[in-house]
Amino acid sequence: MIYLDNNATTRPLAAVVEAMLPLLRDDYANPSSVHRFGQMVRHRLERSREQVAALLRASPKEIVFTSGGTESINLAVRGAAGARPGKKRILTTAVEHSAVLRVVDDLESVGYAIDLVGVDREGRIDVAEWSAKLNDDTALASVMLANNETGVVFDVGSLAGLAAEKGIPVHVDAVQAAGKIAIDVQSIPASFISLSAHKFHGPKGVGALYVRRRAKLQPQIVGGSQERDMRGGTENVAGIVGMGVAAEDALCHLIGTGGEVAALRDAFEFSVCACWPGAVVNGGAGPRVPNTTNISFPGMEAEAILMVLSEAGICASSGSACSSGSLEPSHVLKAMGIPENVAHGAVRFSLSRFSTRAEVDEVVNRLPGLLRPLADLVKP
Ligand code: PLP
Repeated sequence: MIYLDNNATTRPLAAVVEAMLPLLRDDYANPSSVHRFGQMVRHRLERSREQVAALLRASPKEIVFTSGGTESINLAVRGAAGARPGKKRILTTAVEHSAVLRVVDDLESVGYAIDLVGVDREGRIDVAEWSAKLNDDTALASVMLANNETGVVFDVGSLAGLAAEKGIPVHVDAVQAAGKIAIDVQSIPASFISLSAHKFHGPKGVGALYVRRRAKLQPQIVGGSQERDMRGGTENVAGIVGMGVAAEDALCHLIGTGGEVAALRDAFEFSVCACWPGAVVNGGAGPRVPNTTNISFPGMEAEAILMVLSEAGICASSGSACSSGSLEPSHVLKAMGIPENVAHGAVRFSLSRFSTRAEVDEVVNRLPGLLRPLADLVKP
């Protein structure tokens, strides 16, 4: 199998699994228990908080553990809106993940007005539009750091700065950026940042929300007083410990591998476009995370391409995994103004630092033979 679907999820590191096992098997105490057994587990949990905080250059006190990216986003967006009851607008972009777009849809149904900022043909945000739409009535502005479909990176430092000047809190969805590019809360004046462990070689079902000191947030899951009253419920200690190990490893490899992964991605992209005339890269002109490429094979159906790739043992994806299965072209490519016949044939290949030159070469070599029968089918 050749796995080029790392934006859907990544392989957990062996060190992550090793670190989690004792917590599942032997060290099962509740970290809120006062006995020594409980406090030993509490100590492991707090160590993970330090490791996750380090990935963002944040303080451990600013980290709230959750069940993943989706929950972190729900907590940030609903929680920040709830904490500013007088404000009734939410600003976000047209290319956010459904985890953000569905939450703002929900808020719209209870009376909020949603302002959406568009992107250009390369997936770059319109900063002037963002600035103009920051309003006295804006409760929260939410923007992703890296797009899950194209890999395009937004300058969230500047965007958050514009909001901060107007006293508007900002949430950054960094789910697809964490572990791929450096994130420093000292240079991004955001109040909230969402992370998900399984996108950087940690376990699924665990994530974190960075909550800047003094940022106002209404908890969404209430019960016990865990996570400093921000998120009730006995912690998923094994998952959190796995996330800590993955975060520490990601930080170590940030400088080392980003360039190599980007070089491999660029070579792959170049070779695919050379071997299939008409293939185009979506969103390739500006800054991107190093591992992602979104390539359209115009006139073809991505679902059919994914099927033949899958039969050949190659894992890729069309847009976000959550929306595959639907034949609607991706909302991201639509927002970029990509024509329908091009958007329908868009395939996302996402590498990891474990992807090899041999794997990438094999995909390039086999691709024309796999695609040709499909292209013959669509010929008039
Ligand atoms: N935000 C982005 C940009 C994503 O790509 C994803 C998952 O694909 C999420 C949020 C949701 O994260 P999770 O699957 O951990 O809930």
